[in-house]
Amino acid sequence: MALQVILARVRAAEAAAGRVPRSVQLIAVSKVQPDARVRDVLAEGHRLFGENYVQEAQAKWPAFRAAFDAVQVHMIGPLQTNKAKLAVELFDAIHTVDRASLAEKLAKLAQARGVCPQLFVQVNTGAEPQKAGILPEALDGFIADCRKMDLSLAGLMCIPPEGEDSMPHFTALADMAARHGLSGLSMGMSGDFEAAIAAGATHVRVGSAIFGARTYA
Ligand SMILES: *Cc1c(COP(=O)(O)O)cnc(C)c1O
Repeated sequence: MALQVILARVRAAEAAAGRVPRSVQLIAVSKVQPDARVRDVLAEGHRLFGENYVQEAQAKWPAFRAAFDAVQVHMIGPLQTNKAKLAVELFDAIHTVDRASLAEKLAKLAQARGVCPQLFVQVNTGAEPQKAGILPEALDGFIADCRKMDLSLAGLMCIPPEGEDSMPHFTALADMAARHGLSGLSMGMSGDFEAAIAAGATHVRVGSAIFGARTYA
């Protein structure tokens, strides 16, 4: 099924780019998908998923985690500060650290719990006013502030502007990550994950190409 096709394309893109085999993780983005489709992908052996909404993840994943071993769920949607506590309990990674108030809250939670999900800073590479993320020119300061709070960062994440070539955004994000010694790069979706892998993505977030189109109620 579609999962196998996408996995094969990920592995082929890794090879074509001279990347280490299996160095790219495929996040199957299951937001808004019916449980039956998610179960099929789990039954095929896939274990890494992405969700956009805390409440939906809370309703969906405890039962799947009980039924399948070694499941990992990453938060890839905007995170409200008042849902941060629930999010650190539910998710293995958060890709959308996009403002100081959220970083502060996560730092407090990490200190209290002694553990923290992997964290990615979302960068608004296209400087789009309606889009979340730290502006590129503010990134140095933001990362320095996170480090002052002892908040450990795994990498950077971006969502390039729609209708634009993604590649310049991917290479810009890779440069920013390298400059800060961050190894994680969450970039690439159904339409551009191969380009993202060529540019160094470590995590690609693919939804509709695996599960089919989303239908919002
Ligand atoms: C929904 C979503 C995806 C997956 O999008 P597709 O185009 O269905 O692959 C990836 N990243 C983020 C941040 C998303 O919200």
